[in-house]
Amino acid sequence: RFISFEGSEGCGKTTQIRLLKKRLEERGQKVILVREPGSTPLGERLRRLLKHSAIGFCPLAELFLFEASRAELIKKIIEPEMAQNTWILADRFTDSTLVYQGIVRGIPLKTIEELNQLATAGIQPTLTILLDIPVTSSRFRIKKRDGQKPSIDKLQADFERSLEMVRKAYLELASREPERFYILEATGSPKEIATLVWEKISHVFEL
Ligand code: C5P
Ligand code: MG
Repeated sequence: RFISFEGSEGCGKTTQIRLLKKRLEERGQKVILVREPGSTPLGERLRRLLKHSAIGFCPLAELFLFEASRAELIKKIIEPEMAQNTWILADRFTDSTLVYQGIVRGIPLKTIEELNQLATAGIQPTLTILLDIPVTSSRFRIKKRDGQKPSIDKLQADFERSLEMVRKAYLELASREPERFYILEATGSPKEIATLVWEKISHVFEL
């Protein structure tokens, strides 16, 4: 019972994960949230480094940092919690790496798949929920969440192109693994989307 949430920045992953956790807990289920990079002491340090560093890392170095965070997360949290039958809800997982370090930053997908396999010891989410929203909505939500980030305005055109690229890349990945992916059109209110997420989860896991 391992579910990952994917989608471009501002699609509502974090919000939906929290709502789902609450709903599962109301049913007496044991749930943990993890995020990538992050969730372990090493992972959170890497998260700060990756998110806020002024240094631009080369794509391969960046990939190794994400995979280091993932290896630690698998060993220290996901494997032991799976053994306890805990629900694991992940805010991004291996598909993010394929999209951002692969399709956006240009590392061959085969290389990433090999490193993903190594870092996860083959553990994959049972279900991956892709929250799909048009670029204009992600831009709006990111602004609402972060305020007027100068970097976003300055690089507006680049930023939108990359959001579009990310969106297409996710849809492409999803079409390759229709069994694992559930694509949700996520333009509605958080409550509406949470209802759709719950419908899917209760169906798949027979709740
Ligand atoms: O998780 P969140 O949506 O906050 O991620 C914010 C940003 O982190 C993404 O829009 C992307 O630019 C970056 N990221 C990345 N590579 C990953 C995961 C996230 O570059 N594997
Ligand atoms: Mg988020």
